[in-house]
Amino acid sequence: ESKAGSNFVKAIVAADLESGKYQAIQTRFPPEPNGYLHLGHAKSICLNFGLAKAFGGECNLRMDDSNPTKEDIEYVNSIAEDVKWLGFEWAGDIKYTSSYFDQLYRWAEELVEKGLAYVCELDAEQTREYRGSLTEAGKHSPWRDRSVEENLDLLRKMKAGEFKDGEKMLRAKINMAAPDMCMRDPVMYRIRHVEHHQTGNKWCIYPMYDFAHGLSDALEGVSHSVCTLEFAANRPLYNWFIDNCTSVVPAELGRPHQYEFSRLSLEYTVLSKRRLIQLVDDNHVNGWDDPRMPTVSGLRRRGYTSASIREFCDRIGVTKSDGVVEMASLESCIREDLENSACRAMCVLDPVKVIITNYPADKEVEWLTAPSHQNIPELGERQLPFTKEIWIDRADFREEANKKFKRMVTGGEVRLRNSYCIRADEVIKDESGEIIELRCSYDENTLGVNPEGRKVRGVIHWVSASHGKQAEVRIYDPLFSQANPMAAEDFLSTLNPDSLTVKKNAWIEPSLVDVAAGTNFQFEREGYYVSDPDSTAEKMVFNRTVPLRDTWAK
Ligand code: ATP
Ligand code: MG
Ligand code: MG
Repeated sequence: ESKAGSNFVKAIVAADLESGKYQAIQTRFPPEPNGYLHLGHAKSICLNFGLAKAFGGECNLRMDDSNPTKEDIEYVNSIAEDVKWLGFEWAGDIKYTSSYFDQLYRWAEELVEKGLAYVCELDAEQTREYRGSLTEAGKHSPWRDRSVEENLDLLRKMKAGEFKDGEKMLRAKINMAAPDMCMRDPVMYRIRHVEHHQTGNKWCIYPMYDFAHGLSDALEGVSHSVCTLEFAANRPLYNWFIDNCTSVVPAELGRPHQYEFSRLSLEYTVLSKRRLIQLVDDNHVNGWDDPRMPTVSGLRRRGYTSASIREFCDRIGVTKSDGVVEMASLESCIREDLENSACRAMCVLDPVKVIITNYPADKEVEWLTAPSHQNIPELGERQLPFTKEIWIDRADFREEANKKFKRMVTGGEVRLRNSYCIRADEVIKDESGEIIELRCSYDENTLGVNPEGRKVRGVIHWVSASHGKQAEVRIYDPLFSQANPMAAEDFLSTLNPDSLTVKKNAWIEPSLVDVAAGTNFQFEREGYYVSDPDSTAEKMVFNRTVPLRDTWAK
């Protein structure tokens, strides 16, 4: 059964193709390269590239790079990598808004010549004051009625670098009484004497989003320009620029239309580059790809597969209503994926030594064969060393317990996963009373066979003490301890101080040594884990992706 959520944009595109409004569709994903992509961007990527794929169209990857102060080539590269990793291919080369700067500037002169734009000298505070409010019309700037010649001359001087930052700006001349605030003579260009990662020092005036965006869409022949709901109010302005600059838009391309959908919000995290940058810069996390981050690179390092993220985006659907998605929905997507794809392995997180007293002293090791996945023979088998000394998890033994405890108790018998049944005979403690060793006996007739006439309590996992390897396991919990961190006055005050627990003395079966970084496993009875790039030949490092079962259920 399909779990896909509804998608109203898909219905619009289907209708537009059927009616012949467009012959083919063209979409775009337009990130600003001022941070790494997060799960909200993944939603937009899956939507835009997904539409193109579903209807045989194309999707551009466009760096919306008109604000050089906060942008960087590092971000450009990470964005391209993440889009590819998510499984999508953009049409042609990566596009840049900055590569349209010449054309945009020609349009600006055109608007000046048509009397639709003017150079204004109000400062930021005055501009705000003149704009008015929702209940009050704005006032005309004293510079609004300059002649075309004077405006053109000043705009050219702005471009030539004759003024300082903020001294002048170019504004569209629309309507200072418009009920839509964005139509009250919006800024088109501001002066910024900064170097740009693509255009170097060629420009000292940079176009504003509203001016650049729709016209870039038009230049690329975008048919459906999909963005998030907060831009709904800007749609009249999006259309105004396209309507008034048509002279340069190739007619055969048709004109782009903007559609808005609701942003993704996810519980216990923040999906905003500005906030995520703060977490990185202030060292609350170890970089953009910290496995606790809701970034695409963080999720990847956490062990999320691209298929699970696409599935998640499919399930949440595309609507116009704002909602907050539960973390459990995201986790169930990766759990369902890995349940049917990840190899099984054993890892003891909190080890306690077991000595099998009746195991022959002269037998160094016995290699047992176990399937990599109980239901998927194609995944093959692995060799497990069984030895006289093994590790089991401390939580799998209690000196006494009632029948509900399906693990090992003194005098009780359990099966070692993929191996023999053992019985706990004696408990060895140190002076403080902590258990340091369990003396057990094994039944050599129980390999793959149930013991006769007795019931074992349960199955526990284990690792050979002599042939296993010590490893580091990083267990992640939510980065924030409140479902909505942004509801707090300072979102940083809701950071979860226990979001990372490092187990430095975990033990892994030898088949896990040397696996490539990014390999997913189910550590039996523990959860899904992935090998981390921090792994070395001496010590493997694993990250917990998710526990085996949903722990969010209230
Ligand atoms: P942020 O607030 O995180 O900086 P942004 O919208 O400013 O996000 P852009 O780089 O401009 O970041 O976004 C590129 C595209 O991704 C835009 O079309 C935007 O609408 C979309 N997008 C960003 N965040 C989300 C989100 N939470 N849900 C859905 N789409 C999003
Ligand atoms: Mg943006
Ligand atoms: Mg932003």
